[in-house]
Amino acid sequence: KQIHVNLGKDSYDIQIEKGLLDHVGAALRKVIQARTLAVISDDTVDGLYGGRLERSLQENGFTVRRMVFPAGESSKSLRMLANLYQGMADAGLTRSDAVITFGGGVTGDLGGFAAATYLRGIPFIQIPTTIIAQVDSSVGGKVAVDLPSGKNQAGSFYQPKAVFIDPELLQTLPIRFIHDGMGEVIKYGCIRDRSLFELLETVDDNSLPAYWEEIIGRCCAIKAAIVERDVFDLGERMILNFGHTIGHAVERYYSYGCYTHGEGVAVGMAMLTCRTEAMGLTQIGTAERIIRLLKRYSLPAAVRASASDLLPYIGHDKKKRGSRLTFIILKKIGVCELLPVAGEDIPHYIRKREFI
Ligand code: NAD
Ligand code: ZN
Repeated sequence: KQIHVNLGKDSYDIQIEKGLLDHVGAALRKVIQARTLAVISDDTVDGLYGGRLERSLQENGFTVRRMVFPAGESSKSLRMLANLYQGMADAGLTRSDAVITFGGGVTGDLGGFAAATYLRGIPFIQIPTTIIAQVDSSVGGKVAVDLPSGKNQAGSFYQPKAVFIDPELLQTLPIRFIHDGMGEVIKYGCIRDRSLFELLETVDDNSLPAYWEEIIGRCCAIKAAIVERDVFDLGERMILNFGHTIGHAVERYYSYGCYTHGEGVAVGMAMLTCRTEAMGLTQIGTAERIIRLLKRYSLPAAVRASASDLLPYIGHDKKKRGSRLTFIILKKIGVCELLPVAGEDIPHYIRKREFI
């Protein structure tokens, strides 16, 4: 399956295919002319798949330099970025070479930012290996590292030349990360794709692998369409934040790592939709359906923290000038809208529904 992301001279294709890893070299030859490829991965992904990727690339005449960093969010740092620059310089990488980011969202964000800035930008290709990366972070061109003062605080918009997705790589992804990614997948269904939502209602953990191509394809198509209309995140792209305002607060209140990002988003979607449904803004029964679907993929729909616990963390990560905040809310499954909320009204939207 192929999805075109139309961004004028920055356009590219997303290719989704089981087993793609073993012939990605040939696919890449059609996209770029580079000689040397810096393949950036964390140690887990490199250990599992680095050899197979290298072979496929070498068979197609590429010179490969594997650059490996320790797995985990703490590697999305300035220090690791400096290490990558050093490695790229040592490898003699020029602007006619290219970078491949091979891994999850951390690898794509870190390696993509290195590619965006090394020699003022050299071409890069995303080969995402987690659900989060396959349905979200590898598409859209946001690249970044974290600063001590916060996540993604140094970054850029820099589009890849291609995205190659092999759903079979998910076979080795630990179940916690599968569920984490399903939080985002369910989000796509909620905001834009009722039939995806309905598909997820019939699938479960055991039958998921048979549907990866279909699910990833639908998510990428949604993300691509939104990004095409709003590359620099000035408007429509905001709808991708459904569940995230409260989700980020949950992640931060419990300190990062306690709840995965997808779990935070799950809680955010459920909590907010319960409230907007009670307010008459959302079709009756929507929250119930979302909560049932979240449970299907072992995702939480509520947390112990109270509204007043979470409130200090709401909107902290985004510029909340004038204490106004825009919530993304659902009219019904598959249809969302923007709802600007004044600072003093925010607590109404994060009240818990007691019986969850
Ligand atoms: P990650 O890259 O740390 O991957 C999660 C874990 O899975 C790691 O330990 C990794 O080694 C392991 N792993 C990866 N692929 C595997 C595989 N196929 N088999 C076994 N293990 C595998 O994190 P993530 O969850 O993929 O992404 C989270 C990051 O993505 C965050 O930093 C977030 O800010 C970023 N993100 C960016 C965007 C964007 O638009 N740029 C969007 C969403 C998230
Ligand atoms: Zn997210």
